[in-house]
Amino acid sequence: MDQQIVVLASGNAGKLKEFRRILAPLAMDIRSQAAFAVPAVAEDGLSFVENAIIKARAACQHTGLPAIADDSGLAVDYLQGAPGIHSARYAGGGDAANNTKLLAALEGVPEEQRSARFQCVLVYMRHALDPMPLVCQGSWEGRILFAAQGEQGFGYDPLFYVPEHDCSSAQLAPEEKNRISHRARASALLLQALASNR
Ligand code: IMP
Repeated sequence: MDQQIVVLASGNAGKLKEFRRILAPLAMDIRSQAAFAVPAVAEDGLSFVENAIIKARAACQHTGLPAIADDSGLAVDYLQGAPGIHSARYAGGGDAANNTKLLAALEGVPEEQRSARFQCVLVYMRHALDPMPLVCQGSWEGRILFAAQGEQGFGYDPLFYVPEHDCSSAQLAPEEKNRISHRARASALLLQALASNR
């Protein structure tokens, strides 16, 4: 039997590889939205859930196929959840500018008030009018360091302290990060949900 084609609503080749690996037990043919020339869409929702749904719906609408979308970011308690849905564009520059801005925003804030978490939402939408898309969430608790540490990963990884490993997430081996991260947790739930609800 032909495998169900599913569109990944992301232009990120790393994510495509990762989702293909995680969802391999479901024998789905996951393809990048670039292969279907899905146009970029404004991510103007007020939550990770809304933005993931907006991206998934745009991919379904354009292709007529089921779609998977994700949205993620960093929530810092002292900053009332910022940078949150604005994580990617927090400082209006790249990762280095974001990290510099975050350190400045937490200047003088003691360790016990630097709690934070990475959050990830994954959505599986069967078609553009799917009234009950699968929505899976994962969080990863830690705190914001006083200075960047480590070279692995991306984004805020050098500033995110992982208590269970006593290092930053940029100092973790990639396989270990992929095992315990917010994205890994949401992906495990999506795998379970899809196994019984496709
Ligand atoms: P996106 O959902 O991949 O677009 O990620 C949004 C932004 O959140 C990224 O650009 C990063 O700034 C931040 N972010 C999300 N996940 C991670 C992570 O695993 N490590 C570091 N930063 C992350």
